[in-house]
Amino acid sequence: MTGVGAHGRLANNYDPLPVTVVTAEGAWVTGDDGHRYLDLLAGYSALNFGHRHPQLVAAAQDQLGRVTLTSRAFRHDLLDPFASALCALVGPSLRGEPMMLPMNTGAEAVETAIKAVRKWGHRRGITEPTVVVAQDNFHGRTTTLVSFSTDEEARAGYGPYTPGFRVVPFGDVEAVAAAIDETTVAVLMEPVQGEAGVVVPPPGFWPALRALCDDADVLLVADEIQSGLGRTGTTLACDLWGVQPDLVTLGKALGGGIVPVSAVVGRSDVLDVFTPGTHGSTFGGNPLACAVGLAVVELLADGSVVEEARRLGERMQTRLDDLVADELVVDVRGAGLWAGIDVDETRGSGRDVCLALLERGVLAKDTHGSTLRLAPPLTIAERDLDDGLEHLADVLSAL
Ligand SMILES: *Cc1c(COP(=O)(O)O)cnc(C)c1O
Repeated sequence: MTGVGAHGRLANNYDPLPVTVVTAEGAWVTGDDGHRYLDLLAGYSALNFGHRHPQLVAAAQDQLGRVTLTSRAFRHDLLDPFASALCALVGPSLRGEPMMLPMNTGAEAVETAIKAVRKWGHRRGITEPTVVVAQDNFHGRTTTLVSFSTDEEARAGYGPYTPGFRVVPFGDVEAVAAAIDETTVAVLMEPVQGEAGVVVPPPGFWPALRALCDDADVLLVADEIQSGLGRTGTTLACDLWGVQPDLVTLGKALGGGIVPVSAVVGRSDVLDVFTPGTHGSTFGGNPLACAVGLAVVELLADGSVVEEARRLGERMQTRLDDLVADELVVDVRGAGLWAGIDVDETRGSGRDVCLALLERGVLAKDTHGSTLRLAPPLTIAERDLDDGLEHLADVLSAL
């Protein structure tokens, strides 16, 4: 057949729910059908402050009237303030004296972290550095990142694959210890696995991982692109356990739902491996991104958004625990305002639940077939959250 397929001019790499969003505000979006929908996905945590948060929109609009792009060939006046503010926000959660390197997407931030730890290893004479990663990880879609994905859908057909990664079960510190040898430069993991279905490791895992990395002189890298910036009711998810990683990747919410902004933040003696010409990005750290990123950091700085996420998160988990008790779902996992809900597959798929929720004006997204992920904006009104969860209970009862 010639010509275009059922998806027109758009490549078919997503299967969106049948809703076409035309406007949005806070936790609500409006479809081209004129209906309003409560957004309980919040762009996979890219919209932690809701749609079009007034302070973020104002910062972006203000910057649009000044300068939007210089490339890193020239200086601009917001890069240092953004770097200082971000390091001040997350520095206390990190090992050592922090510095940051701004990028755009999450995948680029993880790639940057991998390049940093590899080069750090090369400087120590490790010619073939390896990185230990977790099963069911999600770190992005580049060829290197899918090389160590264990999700066949994400990986198959994209070889040859980048070597240098060792995959171990998530949450198993013995397995990490067994995978570390003299070639190992880093352990790279999500504190809580997002795409895998909001999988929270045993409470002792991250503290044990920190101790192990210290003993083995290996860097601990936390991918907080989805878990960081308030989602778990703490500034970083690692704060849940008081663990300080050497490097952290941030993204998603850092762009305030307006522009892609990501960063690697962490030990200056590690990020110092980058010297002019050895790494970069045309758009990374551009003035518009810095203006929005700075406004995001300012929104988080006094801790009130994070505290509200913690409070609403407890409320949500209590409601979701009731669903398990009532045998409406198989299992619920969560941290802060973030939950993975395993639907009973004999009653329906995660997609079925999402479609029924859509009918009721609630947006959520399934992952891996039978798991539903909830990540409402941290700024959602308590009343809206309660209503959304009530719709979920009704949908599940009716399955
Ligand atoms: C979304 C995500 C990424 C990739 O971010 P992109 O901006 O889509 O490249 C990486 N790591 C984690 C943990 C994520 O959730």
